[in-house]
Amino acid sequence: MLAGVPDAVYRLDPEGRVTYLNAAAESLFQLSAAELIGRRLLDVFPAAKGTLVEDQLREILGDGQPRQFEYFYEPRDHWFEIRAFPYPDGVAVFLRDVDDRYRTDLRRDTELRELTAVLEALPSATVLVGDDGRILVVNRAWEADGELLRSGGVEPGGVGDVYLECMSRGLLPTHHAAIAAGVIRLQAEEPDGVPGSFEYEYSTQLGSFATWFHLQAARVPFSRRVVVTHTDVTERVRGEQAMAWRAGHDELTGLPNRATLLDMIADALTGGAPGAPGTALLVLDLDGFKTVNDSLGHQLGDRLLRQVGERLAEQVRPGDAVGRLGGDQFVVLARECDQAEAAALAFRLQTTFALPFTASGISVPLSASIGVAVSRSDVRDPHQLLSDADAAMFAAKSSGRDRVHLFSPGLREAARWRLEVATRLRGDAIDQLVVHYQPVVRLDTGEVDGVEALVRWQHPERGLLPPDSFLSVAEETGQVIPITRWLLRETTRKAAEWAAQGLPLRMSVNVSARHFSAETLVRDVRTALRDSGLPPDQLVLELTETSVAEDPTRAEDQLTVLRSFGVRVAIDDFGTGWSSLAQLFALPIGTLKIDRSLLNAAERAVAGETGAVLHAIVELTRTLGIKSVAEGIETPEHLRMVRAAGCDLAQGWLLGQAMPAEEVPRFVRSVQAAGGDLCALAVAGDAVPQAG
Ligand code: C2E
Ligand code: CA
Ligand code: CA
Repeated sequence: MLAGVPDAVYRLDPEGRVTYLNAAAESLFQLSAAELIGRRLLDVFPAAKGTLVEDQLREILGDGQPRQFEYFYEPRDHWFEIRAFPYPDGVAVFLRDVDDRYRTDLRRDTELRELTAVLEALPSATVLVGDDGRILVVNRAWEADGELLRSGGVEPGGVGDVYLECMSRGLLPTHHAAIAAGVIRLQAEEPDGVPGSFEYEYSTQLGSFATWFHLQAARVPFSRRVVVTHTDVTERVRGEQAMAWRAGHDELTGLPNRATLLDMIADALTGGAPGAPGTALLVLDLDGFKTVNDSLGHQLGDRLLRQVGERLAEQVRPGDAVGRLGGDQFVVLARECDQAEAAALAFRLQTTFALPFTASGISVPLSASIGVAVSRSDVRDPHQLLSDADAAMFAAKSSGRDRVHLFSPGLREAARWRLEVATRLRGDAIDQLVVHYQPVVRLDTGEVDGVEALVRWQHPERGLLPPDSFLSVAEETGQVIPITRWLLRETTRKAAEWAAQGLPLRMSVNVSARHFSAETLVRDVRTALRDSGLPPDQLVLELTETSVAEDPTRAEDQLTVLRSFGVRVAIDDFGTGWSSLAQLFALPIGTLKIDRSLLNAAERAVAGETGAVLHAIVELTRTLGIKSVAEGIETPEHLRMVRAAGCDLAQGWLLGQAMPAEEVPRFVRSVQAAGGDLCALAVAGDAVPQAG
């Protein structure tokens, strides 16, 4: 029976003599049965004398107990596994060549020890997962994380546990599924193929902290074992999250910024069911906030903006959103909201401004102009909806403060026009500007005293455009400053040219508030005067009442400097603003231009009171040594009224329309030729030469 066993088998008698050996033993010993039977094996292989094998066999003979041990036979440099049993007349020995297996195991043990040492040195929690999915080795970092897990009530995994089972504890199912798929894929690889790897980022609760881990798994070459590291990347992820948050939010108020709002709008636009109410967008622009900032300081302004954001946020439904577009512009996004509801919301937002805002003990009344746009089926683009609401806001703003305006398609045309103007003004439009001049007439003699320069745009396709159609855009974009700079040069040159021809006409130039607050005005005026050689007292700068009222202290400084050159300053459109008369007249101004709305009001008033207001104002200017100009004289009745009120000068269509520069000398000369009294000529009828 033993003859067929693959192991080498032999029997020894109590003296160690061979009594039997099978074929495998013959080939192992490289001696035949005939050569070995009856001989002491230790005599045949003397190198085994005094080794483990001799001791063990002696002990078996002594206590009759079987033995199993591994034995290294030096002359052959080989490992054997020996199982020896007592036998009625000696011992039976089973000998198996385990050299390959033994050496492989040995190498594996060494490798494992080395690997363990390497793993220990890694700062990331690391495990080695065996072919069976159980953890073979863990490092200190893994154990440390395990302690934290345990403190949070989660049982950590250790050596011998199934790795993926340990990982399922305290992890979201989606995270766990992704990790399981990755690790299983690695283990399924062909052991001697190119080892794959797998990376994944997941979050988990480690003790009381939400922690982010970057998991990296790699298969160990020539095996199905997998090394998995779990690196704590919480700090990096937090940094990234904070950065992403900052990129999407306004720093001052913490509200979503334009980019985030556009995403939210896009989301709302696609979210609604067909036929459901649309998405409403409200753009709010605070009225006169620049003045608040300039007079109270930016710090206080910032605090007010934050409060505005908070108040708005209180007014919206859960699901809706408030954001800041920048500056003093806010946006409210209302989902599933029709036009009527949106308007109601706008009025509700308006009333939140009824109570003044307070900062640093100062109470500041604020109001907002609100534009409302509600998506219709044709609006799917968030930019379009925002620009519609913006156009509506713009319309609200131009109709006065504290207004609500609903978007209408006509506004889109207006917005398109504004964009075109802004683009063109940056390009070549400034070369297409022309100046027309309207006569300003002395009411006592009827002589032409001067002209007011009024800008127009000779648009290549649309023809001659009035200033209202493009100047507000130029104000917004700041282009009004280079425009006025050019205008100052052009008009002073013209006035000097006419003076040289014997026509000394005082030149009035309109200056925008924007330019007035930009500080370059003084320099621009000085340059124009120097280059043209026009005497400074022949130049009048017209500033609107509101542009001066915005920052009276600053206005006073600038006006004083301009006055010191000898330049005159006129307050334009008087009667349309809301500034205090006392404040206005405290400024160093030379001329007051009375707006034609005041003239019309006087005309409409009951007969007895006709001209009373006008009278009072003119009286006041006279006492203060300020010249008065009545604007918008369209009828002989107007002329009579302003004369009766005692105005010094007048202008209007009755006396002469604005005309191109080349017509001015002809116009003035023909008045002179007809006696010099333009008022008389105008009242008499068609005698006034008309422009064009
Ligand atoms: P403004 O300074 O009050 O100029 C007077 C406006 O009233 C001019 O309109 C003029 O053509 C118009 N007007 C003159 N007489 C009469 C009249 O009898 N009846 C009526 N209904 N209107 C009359 P325009 O030229 O369209 O200018 C409008 C506004 O545009 C100006 O109002 C001024 O504020 C601004 N503007 C015009 N040119 C310039 C400029 O060169 N620079 C700046 N910054 N603003 C300008
Ligand atoms: Ca003017
Ligand atoms: Ca005016």
